[in-house]
Amino acid sequence: MDKDKIWQSVLAQVQLTLSRAIFSIWFSKTVIKSIKASGNKQIVEIGAQNSFIREKLEKKYGDQLKELFDSLTEKENELRFVVWQEIKEEKPEAKGPLFSFDPQKQHQSFFFKALTKARINQDYTFQNFAVASTNEMAFAAVSAVSKKPGENYNPLFIYGGVGVGKTHLMQAVGVEMLKKNPQAAILYCTGEDFTNEIIEAIRARNTSFFKKKYRYVKLLMIDDIQFIAGKEAVQKEFFHTFNTLKQFGGQIILTSDKMPEEIDGLENRLRSRFEGGLTIDIQEPNFELRSAILLIKAKQMGENLPIEAAKLIAQRVKSTRKLEGILTRIISEKMLRKKEINIEMVNSIIPEFSSSENSFSKRTLRPDKIIKFVADFYGIKHAEIKGKRRLKQIVFPRQIAIYLLRNEVNLAYQEIGRIFGGKDHTTIMHSEKKIIKLIEESDQVRGEIENIKRGLI
Ligand code: ADP
Ligand code: MG
Repeated sequence: MDKDKIWQSVLAQVQLTLSRAIFSIWFSKTVIKSIKASGNKQIVEIGAQNSFIREKLEKKYGDQLKELFDSLTEKENELRFVVWQEIKEEKPEAKGPLFSFDPQKQHQSFFFKALTKARINQDYTFQNFAVASTNEMAFAAVSAVSKKPGENYNPLFIYGGVGVGKTHLMQAVGVEMLKKNPQAAILYCTGEDFTNEIIEAIRARNTSFFKKKYRYVKLLMIDDIQFIAGKEAVQKEFFHTFNTLKQFGGQIILTSDKMPEEIDGLENRLRSRFEGGLTIDIQEPNFELRSAILLIKAKQMGENLPIEAAKLIAQRVKSTRKLEGILTRIISEKMLRKKEINIEMVNSIIPEFSSSENSFSKRTLRPDKIIKFVADFYGIKHAEIKGKRRLKQIVFPRQIAIYLLRNEVNLAYQEIGRIFGGKDHTTIMHSEKKIIKLIEESDQVRGEIENIKRGLI
C-alpha cells in the first residue's frame, strides 16, 4: 500500500470516533510526508499545518494514530509529528527493547480499536459532560447504568429535543464500559441504521447474521429509536432483539425525540416494554449550561476560552449543535491571525452561526420598528431614545435597543452607531456588553427583554 492510501484508511478510521468539526480542525490539512523502513520498524512522518496542531496531534491523537498504523501495516510504527515546512533532523533511535510488553499500552490499543468498531465518539465522555438541572436526572441514570449494566434501569429511555445531549450521554456509557473492558460487546447504532440493516438482511434472506450481531451484546444503544415507528417488520425484529438481549442480561439504552406514549406508529407491545424501564427527559440547555459546554469543548480542543467570550456566545447562540462549529471557527481565526481569542474576534464570528435561529425573523423586522417599540415600552420619546441625552431613564432603553439591533437584526456596530446619531462603534459595543451583563444578573431585565421580543413578533 502506498503512503497516501494508508493515510486515507487511517483517517477514515479516526473519523469514526470524532465529530465532524473536531476532525476537520485537526486532520483536514494534515498530511503524511513519508514512511521509511528502519530496522524492524517504520518511521512515519506526519505533517501538520502549524505547531499548534502538531502538538495537539501528538499529545491527544498520537496513541490512537500509532495503533491504527500498526494494525493496518501489521508492523511496528514510530510516528513523528512535524510542521509541513519544518526541516526534519533525524531523531536518535528510540531506546529500549522493541517488543517489550506494556499492559497499559495494550489496554489503550484495545480501547481505541473497540471505540472505532463501536463507532463511538471518543469525546463523548462523562468527564466532558456538564451537568445542570436540565439533565441531572438523566446523568444520574446513565451513571448508574454504566456501573451495573443490565441490572437496574432496563431499558433506559432518554428523550428530549435536538442537541440536548442524548447521544453524548448514551455514548458515554459505552466509553465507560470499554474503558473498563475494551473487549466488552457493545453496539451503538441509530434507529435508521438498524432499520436499513434489517431491511437488507431480509432482502438478502440472511437474518441470522443480524440476529447474532444484535442479540448477544452487553450493551445495545439505539439512538433516535422513533425512526422504527410505523415499520412493521423492523419493529417485530426489534421486539425479539429486545427480549433476547434482556433475557441474557444485556443492557439497552434508547433515545428518542419524544416520550414512548407520544411516538406515533409505535407498536403497543414495544411501548409497554419501553415504559417498563426508566424513562427520563432532558430539557433544553439554559444559558449557564451552554456557557459550561463551551468551556468544556474549548478545553477539549486545547484552548482556553475566556469566560466573557463563552458567555457572549452562549447568549447569542441557542443551539448546542452549533457550539462546536463556532469554536473551530474561532480557533482557525486565531491560528490565521496569530492573535489570542478576544471578544471582538468572537463578535465578528457569531453572526455566521446565529443568523438562522433567533426568535423572530430578521428580514421583516426593521431597526426603526425595534427602536420605536423599545421607546414606547419604556415610555420615552422616539427622538429621545435616538438622541444624545445621558439621563439614566433614557440611556437604559437606548442600550436595550442597541442590544436588540445587534442580537436580533445582526446589524454591524458601525451601522448601529450611525442610527444613533453617529456614535462611535466602541460606545455601541460597550452598550451591548452592559446589557448582556444585566441579562445575566437581573431577572427583571431578562423579563423585560423577553416581553419586548414577544411584542415585536
Ligand atoms: P442530541 O443527541 O440530544 O441531539 P447531542 O448529544 O448530539 O444531542 O449533543 C449535541 C452537542 O452538544 C454535542 O457536541 C454534545 O457533546 C454537546 N452537548 C450537549 N449537552 C452537553 C453537556 N451537558 N455537556 C457537554 N456537551 C454537551
Ligand atoms: Mg442525537
